[in-house]
Amino acid sequence: MQPYVTLPSKQYLSEPEATSATSMFVGGRWRAAAEGGTREVLNPYDASVLTVVSEGTRADADAAVAAARRAFDEGAWRRTPAGERGEILGRIADLLQRDREEIALMESLDTGKTVEEGRIDVDDVTGVFRYYAGLADKDAGRIVSTPEGIFSRVVYEPVGVCAMITPWNYPLLQLAWKMAPAIAAGNTMVIKPSEITPVTTCKLVELTVEAGVPADGVVNLVLGTGAEVGSAMVEHPGVDLVSFTGGLATGKRIMASAAETVKKIALELGGKNPNIIFPDVDLDTAVDYALNAAFFHSGQVCSAGARLIVHEDVHDAFTAELARRAEAIVIGCGQKDEEGVRCGPLVSAEHRAKVEAAVARGIEEGARVIAGGKRPDDPELQDGYFYRPTVFTGCSRGMDIVQTEVFGPVVTVETFRTEDEAIELGNDTDYGLSGAVWTNDAGRGERVAAALRHGTVWINDYGPYFAGAEWGGFKRSGVGRELGQAGLDEYREAKHIYRNLAPEPQRWFGEV
Ligand code: NAD
Repeated sequence: MQPYVTLPSKQYLSEPEATSATSMFVGGRWRAAAEGGTREVLNPYDASVLTVVSEGTRADADAAVAAARRAFDEGAWRRTPAGERGEILGRIADLLQRDREEIALMESLDTGKTVEEGRIDVDDVTGVFRYYAGLADKDAGRIVSTPEGIFSRVVYEPVGVCAMITPWNYPLLQLAWKMAPAIAAGNTMVIKPSEITPVTTCKLVELTVEAGVPADGVVNLVLGTGAEVGSAMVEHPGVDLVSFTGGLATGKRIMASAAETVKKIALELGGKNPNIIFPDVDLDTAVDYALNAAFFHSGQVCSAGARLIVHEDVHDAFTAELARRAEAIVIGCGQKDEEGVRCGPLVSAEHRAKVEAAVARGIEEGARVIAGGKRPDDPELQDGYFYRPTVFTGCSRGMDIVQTEVFGPVVTVETFRTEDEAIELGNDTDYGLSGAVWTNDAGRGERVAAALRHGTVWINDYGPYFAGAEWGGFKRSGVGRELGQAGLDEYREAKHIYRNLAPEPQRWFGEV
């Protein structure tokens, strides 16, 4: 079958039938994997081969860490004025906008999301680079209040070599949240994207070099599996910090193996995010946002509103309308979004199988499917990894479908009567990434937002985030914060420098 659109031609993206590839960027050079490995990257729309990229091993991780270590320890990068690093970040933002359409298409082809979602990602990422461009030189440290004769100050230094490991749902965006503050603070880095969605990561690395990041090992890119390349990065004694975004099980493994060398770690893990609907809101609006919260990017979003908690009085009307509109969502090829397609396929056959298994478990537990619950019938969509937006009612807090992150187009609905009950349900999860409350009672909105143990809470909205507002998880949704000032602080060490202006003998030990 002839592909509908193809990836732009790049030195790091080999043709689909190629047997070699040079997609690793190590020490300032695009190169092949040390052992010559390659991987086919599939288009989730029809399972065709989009491109062939390098597939690395432990040897590539070692080479990249060595290059990053040299660039940090011996290079001039960490001593460049912070303002210069800010200028580079600003140029990366300009280049992202210059290549906006190309990058949006690449992300759409690689992940299955629509091109319009790809454009939103590029614009968000541009904003993140601009934010840290501005922040880079704003806060050099502070002077500490001391007794007379002492001059004491706290300054910030880069942490060192940072390993960045990212997931497949937002390859470009999740990398930007790490890379922009790491560059602002003067670190060097080794990046590993998900092995199934490496394309825009290669592109962003290319842009950083064009923007003026020194091409001598400041930014390194290795490709390969988590088990092989990712774990080598985490275990490596030459790495000072691991910043990871991905699933809870992987996060636990990373936390345990980073302990051996006592690395700094930042973990952005999953979520099972409550979306609480009080009966006093306009139901049409609340349903509209609930659909977006649950099914944007086919629900493959860490902050997806996958757990609706709806007041008993409006439950029937709300769920009937939710199901009607979920059934009407047009799913299809992400590059045909101008034809009304709003949801692309899931990212892989393996991931769709996990979603299907979760839906089967939900049915076994007694939850009732009122929309979706199956693959689409459309003959054109049979080769890809599609799954219909799915709504479960009759759910209760103890069910696996309510507690476990599905990471697909599946939303569950529970009911509540009182404000206290809504809060209790909203907190009844091991996760704590995000949540929302819908009410026109301002006091109630504030009370519920304050009581929810989640890193982000929206009142009468769902999903927006700002580069200047910290993002991260309470409880098992993670460790540390990205974005905002705290997102920069993750990549800086605070150092206290104390100076005695006129030392005099103290004779603490007497006249010895
Ligand atoms: P994943 O944990 O399977 O993989 C994430 C990355 O870790 C990949 O690059 C993978 O190759 C690598 N990896 C796997 N095993 C590893 C190991 N042992 N050592 C080192 N690296 C390893 O996650 P995924 O399926 O790619 O992404 C989906 C998950 O990401 C969901 O749980 C989602 O909630 C989470 N997520 C969280 C956020 C957030 O901001 N909190 C954002 C996006 C995604």
